[in-house]
Amino acid sequence: MTPQKKRFIVLLADGSRYDVFRELLEAGRLPHLSEIFLGEGGFAKATSVFPSTTGPAYMPFLTGCFPGTCNVPGIRWFDKGMYARKKFSMERFRSYVGFESFLMNRDMRPGLKTLFEHFPNSFNIFSSVNRGVPSEGNVAAHMRLWYWYYAHLTDRWHLVDQAALDKCLDILKRDFQFLFMVFPGIDEYSHLSRPRHPSALEAYETVDRAMGRIAKELKREGKYDETALFIVSDHGLSETKTHFGVAAFLEAQGVKTFYYPKIFKSGFQAASMVSGNAMLHLYFKGRESWDGRLSLEEVRELHPRVVAGLLEQPAVDLILSQDREGWVHVQSRKGEAKVREEGNELRFRNLRGDPLGLAAAPELLSRSEALRLSADGEYPDSLAQLTQIFRSARTGDLVLSAAKGYDLRKRFEYPEHKSSHGAMHDEHMLIPLFSSVKMNRSVVRSADLFPSILKLHGDPIPAGIDGESFV
Ligand SMILES: [Zn+2]
Repeated sequence: MTPQKKRFIVLLADGSRYDVFRELLEAGRLPHLSEIFLGEGGFAKATSVFPSTTGPAYMPFLTGCFPGTCNVPGIRWFDKGMYARKKFSMERFRSYVGFESFLMNRDMRPGLKTLFEHFPNSFNIFSSVNRGVPSEGNVAAHMRLWYWYYAHLTDRWHLVDQAALDKCLDILKRDFQFLFMVFPGIDEYSHLSRPRHPSALEAYETVDRAMGRIAKELKREGKYDETALFIVSDHGLSETKTHFGVAAFLEAQGVKTFYYPKIFKSGFQAASMVSGNAMLHLYFKGRESWDGRLSLEEVRELHPRVVAGLLEQPAVDLILSQDREGWVHVQSRKGEAKVREEGNELRFRNLRGDPLGLAAAPELLSRSEALRLSADGEYPDSLAQLTQIFRSARTGDLVLSAAKGYDLRKRFEYPEHKSSHGAMHDEHMLIPLFSSVKMNRSVVRSADLFPSILKLHGDPIPAGIDGESFV
């Protein structure tokens, strides 16, 4: 029997890694989390989505759907069909940085119901993905950018985590049903230094203390037993040593390229849209127009040296594309494979070598089998993630995933990013999932939280979502 809960709190510790949480738990540095989650609840290895970036990787928690299903396949994208048809539309390309981040909710596929829309008494603290929060529940919506700007200039991200906790403690006194809050500290301190820098580890301890305060306050209010608590993350992080500019690479080959921040040029033949700095969409103009995705065969015909040239770059790990028949191809220096969705199953074939480390996998497998077989490998949940991103028309003709230690952006940013995410390998894809309610398996997807919450609330789970309940 699934226990029933009235209230739900999800703390998203942005950029926190599964293995770092585990190490700190084992070292006894997270006493509150041990007490709250390791007794009756659980701590699972979970997988994020491709691209493993802030924003798109929040969506599975709130909708049960992958970014491709949500039609937001990156922090930046280019809509080829829109670009072909409209000269001045806002819908031709996007970069969710600064004020444009508010457009993410509008860009998400209409008809998807978020947890904010599901629960009338819902609250959001600092999440840019927040469609459906009642305006009084959107506690820090307009302050978010100011907090971020202030912390960006001063490096005082712990004050933003503290502000999130203060707002949360106020909400616990009210009749809340669903509360989603973001702690940015771990992500930001990791970007500035590296994933295990002492300042990043302190931000993990901040999450521990905050959860301790939340549990204490819930007990004082008499709401603890009717509340389910979760801690999740949107992506891991890895140290970046080398930057590789894909746009500069294309321009050196004579392919005029549109990329951020140089978005006002005209007469280009390619667009390069980077996310989290370790994944990138590449779009090419076809023979006559921009409209429609080019198949792998067409890209090879128009730009014979691009795919092979990119594969020679140590910064490029995987190149994804779709062939004429709709198979998704993945190419790397280790070989080539193809995969496609067939109903609820995935059909997979290695064409050359074994790029994903799945030589032992059967040709036709269920999604849960695909997750189990890949969870401990270098590309967790690769087959489901490779295919889902191509559901979105905004996905590139080629999609690049960076090798460990590299990112795909040349331009120097202040402050310099020393960590990156976005790629499909384990360091970016593995995330922690803490649940105060017992879980029925030890490996889950981020999209599984949404149906689990609905089930704990006794509500029906909508058809067509990507997640499966873990309770
Ligand atoms: Zn993030």
